[in-house]
Amino acid sequence: MRKYFAPVFMFAVFEAVAVTLWLTKDNIFYLFNFSYIGSAISLGTFLFIRKYKHARRIVQLLVGLYMLIYLGLICNENMQIEGFWYYLFTGVFEAATIHYAVAKIFGPLLFGRGWCGYACWTAMILDFLPYKVPSAPLKKIGWIRYITFAISLVFVAALFLSRVGNIERIMFWAFIGGNAAYYIAGIALAYAFKDNRAFCKYICPITVFLKPMSYFSLLRIKCDKDKCVSCGKCKKVCPMDVDITDNSRKRENGTECILCMECVRNCPKDAL
Ligand code: SF4
Ligand code: SF4
Ligand code: SF4
Repeated sequence: MRKYFAPVFMFAVFEAVAVTLWLTKDNIFYLFNFSYIGSAISLGTFLFIRKYKHARRIVQLLVGLYMLIYLGLICNENMQIEGFWYYLFTGVFEAATIHYAVAKIFGPLLFGRGWCGYACWTAMILDFLPYKVPSAPLKKIGWIRYITFAISLVFVAALFLSRVGNIERIMFWAFIGGNAAYYIAGIALAYAFKDNRAFCKYICPITVFLKPMSYFSLLRIKCDKDKCVSCGKCKKVCPMDVDITDNSRKRENGTECILCMECVRNCPKDAL
């Protein structure tokens, strides 16, 4: 039964968040929301342990579609980074601020960039594209993420400073426009660089939070040096160019790891 510790642990963490927010915010939506996400992630972890090939993709679709369609389009919550700035400026600890705190700012201290591997609705589509493993090493253009990060912040700050009316409606349309722009840019870059995750590596503004926080992640893949035969298979299948055989936190591209487990699944010696 010990091998099922991970799904039980993940479910317990999300349930703790669900119940805490439900009681402190007096809003049953949080119980439903975090219980659903926790169940989807636990199911995926369980299926992975049972060696089901598409375990990660199932979680990605269950969580990604829920957030994009139900929270975004039906409930009109802008869960993009603009929504985070919006709620931050209004001083409200709701929706996008909670989402960012849990999934993208403090959560990565615990589960690294699990968000990017299992829940992001942008990557959910990008992962259907044909370039699952990059054919060239990482380019040194990651600075673009700081520009997109700044644009999102300036955009929302300008809305507040100019005191435009009906800002909530603008945020809804910003969610639609922002997502469309992400998908167009993400698909174009994937084909241009022959790398499904090029958008994640160079453009995505959320990595400004995710990368430094995931550096300290409690959950991380480690290599058993006694078992490893240095065959290089793990590097060949990695979508993010991580050198997972190096156990130090400074491993090459370590903060790019999305915990997709492709390296673990493909290691011929079960060294990871
Ligand atoms: S880097 Fe950005 S786009 Fe890519 S999976 Fe993470 S949050 Fe989504
Ligand atoms: S695939 Fe396994 S054995 Fe091969 S280099 Fe990676 S960790 Fe070592
Ligand atoms: S190091 Fe392994 S888990 Fe991390 S992104 Fe690469 S293949 Fe996925």
